[in-house]
Amino acid sequence: MTGRKAAGREAAAVVLRVDRDRCAGSGMCVLTAPGVFDQDAGDGRVLLLDARPPAGPAATAAREAAGLCPAGAIAVRAAPAPDR
Ligand code: SF4
Repeated sequence: MTGRKAAGREAAAVVLRVDRDRCAGSGMCVLTAPGVFDQDAGDGRVLLLDARPPAGPAATAAREAAGLCPAGAIAVRAAPAPDR
């Protein structure tokens, strides 16, 4: 069991990309970050609802979902710093 290791220290903003060809339709991402991912009602594959979750709970959940994806179909990287 992984637990929520990030409790008390939330992730910075991230940029996400999903590979629907790799997706196995397990739904782990939807269970872990329901505001960020959904599943296609037709083929069960991942749908990316928010490619740029802001810092905080959504980014934390998105990072966790990427780590849990059994197909390695979710790529996550740190969002670039905003322009000043
Ligand atoms: S956790 Fe991975 S394999 Fe499962 S639905 Fe999400 S992207 Fe697809």
